Amino acid sequence: MARNKYPGRCYCCGTWTPPGYGHFERHAGHWRIKCVKCASGRVLTDKDPGVKWAQRAVKEAHDA
Ligand SMILES: [Zn+2]
Repeated sequence: MARNKYPGRCYCCGTWTPPGYGHFERHAGHWRIKCVKCASGRVLTDKDPGVKWAQRAVKEAHDA
């Protein structure tokens, strides 16, 4: 599953999920976000490679 590049609420627990702190999945024709805590039980920090990747992707989208 890919990390979310866009923030949004986890459809599972309702937690606000910043870029990289969740996964997105296709559902009923749109995308929804599931936080990593719900998906795998892990608690992420800014040092997580997936979080870094998403933050860099967001920054590049802004810079472009
Ligand atoms: Zn959740």
